[in-house]
Amino acid sequence: MGRRMADHDVDLFVIGAGSGGVRAARIAASYGARVMVAEEYRVGGTCVIRGCVPKKLLVYASRFFGEFEDAAGYGWTVGQPEFHWPALIANKDREIARLEAAYTTTLERFNVGIIKGRATLEDAHTVRLASGARVRAETILISTGAWPYMGPKIPGREHAISSNEAFHLPELPKRILIHGGGYIAVEFACIFAGLGSKVTLVCRNVNILRGFDDDIREHLRNEMGLRGITVISDHTVAQIDKSGDEYVTRLHDGLAVATDKVMFALGRQPNVTGLGLEDVNVRIHEHGGIEVDAYSQTSVPNIYAVGDVTNRVNLTPVAIREGHAFADTVFGGNKRSTAYDCVPSAVFSQPPLAAVGLTEGAARNKYGNIKVYSSDFRPMKNVFAQRHERGLYKLVVDAVTERILGIHMIGPEAPEILQAAAIAVKAGLTKADFDATVALHPSMAEELVLMR
Ligand SMILES: Cc1cc2nc3c(=O)[nH]c(=O)nc-3n(C[C@H](O)[C@H](O)[C@H](O)COP(=O)(O)OP(=O)(O)OC[C@H]3O[C@@H](n4cnc5c(N)ncnc54)[C@H](O)[C@@H]3O)c2cc1C
Repeated sequence: MGRRMADHDVDLFVIGAGSGGVRAARIAASYGARVMVAEEYRVGGTCVIRGCVPKKLLVYASRFFGEFEDAAGYGWTVGQPEFHWPALIANKDREIARLEAAYTTTLERFNVGIIKGRATLEDAHTVRLASGARVRAETILISTGAWPYMGPKIPGREHAISSNEAFHLPELPKRILIHGGGYIAVEFACIFAGLGSKVTLVCRNVNILRGFDDDIREHLRNEMGLRGITVISDHTVAQIDKSGDEYVTRLHDGLAVATDKVMFALGRQPNVTGLGLEDVNVRIHEHGGIEVDAYSQTSVPNIYAVGDVTNRVNLTPVAIREGHAFADTVFGGNKRSTAYDCVPSAVFSQPPLAAVGLTEGAARNKYGNIKVYSSDFRPMKNVFAQRHERGLYKLVVDAVTERILGIHMIGPEAPEILQAAAIAVKAGLTKADFDATVALHPSMAEELVLMR
């Protein structure tokens, strides 16, 4: 259903070939639209190139150490394990290149034109390419993602790396300080610790992972401590000094920590600058992202925006949904928006955690009368291996309707288990439905249907 207007070179121009942009381009093209996409770095965007995918590969790598330790209880004799960081990084880079090629091939198969280089807006229908060429587009989609925020300009800030560089370090740091309390900071703390680095995590809030359930946050903090990670909360970094090969990070109260690397993971900022948005009157929301309505339409009717640049729920599957819904709405004759309730999320820490729906605190604020069921248990595998790590599952339930409002889990494979459980929460099932489900034994997931 492409609309071929003579004065436009393309029906859709997409700026940014990440999770949201690639999906939108492909679906719009499948409806017959003539589509072009510009990408200034690598096709696939943050998730594939320097986000979810490479991170998860490093998470897998970091888990082996614990597995080697646990193996003894199961009768295995494992020699002194050795880890080679450059081998991991090279293998990871090979996999990322493969995925980038696969994304490119998919776009080409749908006849989407790919332009390597930066694109900006000249007017509401004109995109200016790095070459200086202009492309006239009937509809423009901005899916430029976000970028690491490096915090206020403190002395020595230039010494800190972000997650972007963490994926390409020439060697594994023996000691690293990570500043931040969000999921990226916590995940990298666990990755580096699992691979053998001495990790200090400094976060501004009273605890890590603001926004997640308080009991789960506390549980993870304890487990991180047991794994040798030093968590310093309620602190900010005031200054970083380079001294020979090491960095001395001074905290606001004078405490100093010497490490070989300093990483900041303080959040991410939508990529809105230098795009020409002001000239075209695309409004920016006070949270820093592009302001959009439920259909991802901006203040300029033919310009849309999806994904992290809109700063709604900054996760890959959400960006993909928004991109898909946009293409269905504008090119598929099927007006669709994205639902933001019950978006499951995970932190790939050690142990990992996962959540869907309302935390206990949020549910209490919203519903008042709630019931909380929890199970604090030591997984069978850990008991046998004499690992003291425990799991914690929580069900937050509306006391009046018995509907499950939230599930919060920490423990081995929690993200894998939660994805399935999230269907039940999304479907509005009740505690009685969980109780009526027979346990799958022996598993950790059975705790979900055994809480009384
Ligand atoms: C370390 C890390 C770990 C993460 N882990 C997870 C996870 O486990 N699960 C999860 O769901 N999400 C995770 N995320 C978040 C996820 O990566 C993002 O939510 C997702 O990539 C957003 O997709 P997007 O399409 O909005 O933007 P992006 O994927 O960032 O794509 C934007 C693209 O636009 C390009 N671009 C920007 N400006 C221009 C321009 N002017 N011209 C041309 N190209 C331009 C950029 O180069 C980029 O390729 C993680 C992020 C990071 C950083």
